Amino acid sequence: MDFQLTATHEMLRKTVREFAEREIRPKSLHYDETQEYPMEWARKMAELGLLGIFVPEKYGGSGLDTISYAIAIEELSWGDASAGVIAAVNNGLVCEPILRFGTEEQKREYLPKLASGQWMGAYCLTEPGSGSDAVAMRTTARLVDDEWVLTGTKAFVTNALHANLLVVYARTGKDKHDISAFLVPKPAKGLVDLKKENKMGIRASDTMMLGFEDVRIPKENLIGTQGKGFNIALATLDGGRIGIAAQALGIAQAAYDEAAKYAKEREAFGQPIANFQAIRFKLADMAMEIEAARLLMYRVAWMHDQGVRHTYESSVAKLFASEAAHRAVDQAVQIHGGYGFIKDYLVEKLYRDQRITELYEGTSEVQRIVISRHVLG
Ligand SMILES: Cc1cc2nc3c(=O)[nH]c(=O)nc-3n(C[C@H](O)[C@H](O)[C@H](O)COP(=O)(O)OP(=O)(O)OC[C@H]3O[C@@H](n4cnc5c(N)ncnc54)[C@H](O)[C@@H]3O)c2cc1C
Repeated sequence: MDFQLTATHEMLRKTVREFAEREIRPKSLHYDETQEYPMEWARKMAELGLLGIFVPEKYGGSGLDTISYAIAIEELSWGDASAGVIAAVNNGLVCEPILRFGTEEQKREYLPKLASGQWMGAYCLTEPGSGSDAVAMRTTARLVDDEWVLTGTKAFVTNALHANLLVVYARTGKDKHDISAFLVPKPAKGLVDLKKENKMGIRASDTMMLGFEDVRIPKENLIGTQGKGFNIALATLDGGRIGIAAQALGIAQAAYDEAAKYAKEREAFGQPIANFQAIRFKLADMAMEIEAARLLMYRVAWMHDQGVRHTYESSVAKLFASEAAHRAVDQAVQIHGGYGFIKDYLVEKLYRDQRITELYEGTSEVQRIVISRHVLG
């Protein structure tokens, strides 16, 4: 067993951290306030190879491993959680299923565009009436001549506003699990932006409701086998949850850093509050949980690269990291006293951004269902 990161990992962490410090953090509060899409971040992420991190070089990607992916998403999210999710969706939820289940033609056609940032990808599983219970989806795809015709509504689609390619799950038969996955270029006739959500956190990342009004795509835009799309969705989420664990970890680390800095500067009763055991213990607990979350994340990223199934380990890593981040942002606000409640201080934003990590790519309740099924049978 080797707990050492490679020189490539260390270099990547340094590069992404410097980018986050120099270009993401200074604009973070601005984009949070305006909810504008941070085009400049996306462009720079593409230049750094962060939009196709584990996509092989032959398809225009960076050809790195999943640990590199986790490191990059953590560091981007340390800068701003929206930057983290923009990259995580493109890599983990769009490039990944094409790489694992797509045809050679699909890989050649789409991966270079996605990895270079020329195109942005989005993932459409959730619907207004089906979230945790995704198999209850109502969107349908029917084959008419040589085209699939998609009809329905998808909710909460991250990256959708500027997306050029959607991975869409739709019902292709009467059986409950007869669901298939499709590649839908955007714009397309009948594909409508219905609503941009006004969110509590990760406000620089757009989240859209999309309408599919008889959207026609070529027959060959099916991913994998017809009727097996739900397996693709679940396998994609196994990998995707590594990205959300990394996002939560980046938020938690940012909260710790802000709280530790503030505790050393802020004085009460004639001394820095960092001298008080009550404050020291909060920071000690945050540091401990961050360490544990990082190890769980590295382990599952390593398993992903070994090609072994890691449904349970992904849920454990995502659940622990998101709840550790919850505790970290809460304590970071507490350490800031009243100033933690004021928007001038980063911890106010971290507090809001963290919350999503316990909701998307499976709520904490869904992670506990997966974990209890594994441990109890
Ligand atoms: C900002 C944001 C971005 C998102 N991005 C995407 C995206 O890009 N693509 C996409 O497809 N989806 C996306 N989602 C959707 C997200 O994954 C869902 O919101 C999530 O899976 C929960 O579904 P729901 O909101 O319908 O809640 P519901 O499934 O209605 O759940 C409501 C509550 O009931 C609980 N619950 C449900 N079933 C059970 C059960 N069996 N046992 C115990 N408790 C249960 C849940 O845990 C939750 O607490 C995003 C959501 C948000 C808010």
